[in-house]
Amino acid sequence: MGEPIIDLHSDDYFMREALRQATRAYEAGEVPVGAVIVREGRIIARAFNQVEQLKDATAHAEMLALTQAEETVGDWRLTDCTLYVTKEPCPMCAGAMAHTRLARVVFGASDSKGGAAGGAMNLLQFPTLNHRCEITGGIREADCRGLLQNFFARQRLSEKPEKKNGNADPDRSGRNL
Ligand code: ZN
Repeated sequence: MGEPIIDLHSDDYFMREALRQATRAYEAGEVPVGAVIVREGRIIARAFNQVEQLKDATAHAEMLALTQAEETVGDWRLTDCTLYVTKEPCPMCAGAMAHTRLARVVFGASDSKGGAAGGAMNLLQFPTLNHRCEITGGIREADCRGLLQNFFARQRLSEKPEKKNGNADPDRSGRNL
């Protein structure tokens, strides 16, 4: 590979790859978040959220991708890597990103409530931590957010009937559609 090109075109390209992973999560009934890790212009890790499948609250796309990338690189230091993720990372994942010393984090949809890349807090550039990651947000944001919104809308619809305490009332089913 030649020189790694860090520009909005390659960000867009790699975010599409992360979106592909997020779609796999969606299809598996998982909150649709996907991540890829890029080193020297090459994807070295791809993962999607698998919390339900693995019954593991730490199985976020970013955590799984970081572990894969560490295996590929053969080191826990990912200092020359960029992570692309469809949703702004949570505090756990942002903490792991700081520990692995990722050079750069690129995300799609921001998260003002739980995001740790500047949305609710900024652990990726926390002044007293010994590593700070470069951050780029808002890449293919509409696609990334749309997938999440679809997922939660679909989930709300499918959960409605079960929340009636088993008191099936045909007249009311579909009321909130
Ligand atoms: Zn996370």
